[in-house]
Amino acid sequence: MERKILLAGGGIGGLATALACGQLGMATQLFEQKRVLSEVGAGIQLGPNAVRLLESWGLRAALDGVACFPQRLEVRSAQSGSLLGSLPLGARALQRYGARYATIARVDLHTLLHRAVLAQGLAEIHLGRAAQRVSQDASAVELVTDDDRKRRANVLIAADGLWSHVRDFLRQDVQPVFSGHLAYRAMAKQVDLPQSLRSDCITVWLGPAMHAVQYPVQSGELLNLVVIVEGPAPAHTQEWDQAALRSDLTARMSNAFGGLQELVDAMAQWRLWPLNGLPHLRGPQDMAFGRIALLGDGAHPMLPYLAQGAGMAIEDAAVLSRCLHQGPADDAKALQQYASLRWKRNARVQARAERNGEIFHATGLTAWGRDTAMRLLGARLLDMPWLYRGVQ
Ligand SMILES: Cc1cc2nc3c(=O)[nH]c(=O)nc-3n(C[C@H](O)[C@H](O)[C@H](O)COP(=O)(O)OP(=O)(O)OC[C@H]3O[C@@H](n4cnc5c(N)ncnc54)[C@H](O)[C@@H]3O)c2cc1C
Repeated sequence: MERKILLAGGGIGGLATALACGQLGMATQLFEQKRVLSEVGAGIQLGPNAVRLLESWGLRAALDGVACFPQRLEVRSAQSGSLLGSLPLGARALQRYGARYATIARVDLHTLLHRAVLAQGLAEIHLGRAAQRVSQDASAVELVTDDDRKRRANVLIAADGLWSHVRDFLRQDVQPVFSGHLAYRAMAKQVDLPQSLRSDCITVWLGPAMHAVQYPVQSGELLNLVVIVEGPAPAHTQEWDQAALRSDLTARMSNAFGGLQELVDAMAQWRLWPLNGLPHLRGPQDMAFGRIALLGDGAHPMLPYLAQGAGMAIEDAAVLSRCLHQGPADDAKALQQYASLRWKRNARVQARAERNGEIFHATGLTAWGRDTAMRLLGARLLDMPWLYRGVQ
């Protein structure tokens, strides 16, 4: 049989995998449940670890056209607005890690990956086709899609996100669980904001049981804002009732410093995301299952407090494509190798993101200790060479 690599899911992880495989001359067939490949609003930060891989796949010019490359990351008190610490990015990130730190609208990242996959001409993309059932034996994996078609292949990569349907066939022991944290997300045109609220850097605002992150996207034309608070999961998130979201958020921000309240008030449209997670990876057995492998959020969803979920999906794609490139002789072994190479780093990022949440949301004496350490050590606390150096 001609070697067949199937991909379930056309999000950032699935498209990055199709692209990385294509770079090494391997064809893929990708199945995405949505009829139109799209990503809803909001932005994404990409550390040098992710930017370096995207650039190695020929996306440098495309990134330059739509992304921002902020000069610094600032951490501020959400209550007083005062600066607690900062990390220079820009040229320093390039010099230390060989790539820049980027911020980008999700739709732009998704579009540039999609265009690159199409230009390569090695991936068959099937839209409006959901992965429904999977099974495997020693010689092949079989995927049944929602049109009842069966496809046999050498391997199946499940990049179908946090609520991965493929994972349900492989890991009956886990189901996503609500973290107790809610993300309110919004974007505004910078020209519509008063001068004092416009920004070209990344700002993280820390407050008791909440934090907020803002950064520019779309070549600086838009400002992305996400406010994370603690609270029960709302009953009907799909409806996104603007009046209710706004009054809920305003009430939660009543102790915030005036500038941050003003920024929240300036956003026209809010979206609410309850944050869910899985237990952290325990070993390679949680990522590879014979001829099927999990990738991205389907394998290791993480709280967004290290801004690395998409970054880890992109790293997964790079490593997986290299493992598969060694040849079709033993595909299951290639997936095993991929899982062995990836699980520890993914688990470390999952754990560190969760810990960041506790630090970001600290109260009382712990918050005082955090702020003091941030004022004294600033960049030394915020820089993460182990993360930003990425995978070789
Ligand atoms: C508030 C917030 C802020 C974030 N900020 C950052 C950040 O700054 N930096 C960062 O790196 N990450 C960030 N992330 C995380 C990042 O968004 C995810 O880690 C990333 O999108 C995971 O990509 P993925 O391809 O694995 O999954 P997804 O993006 O969820 O894509 C999965 C795809 O699979 C499709 N699908 C689902 N089921 C099926 C099926 N049965 N068959 C076929 N297709 C299917 C879906 O339609 C979707 O297109 C953030 C997340 C949140 C919630």
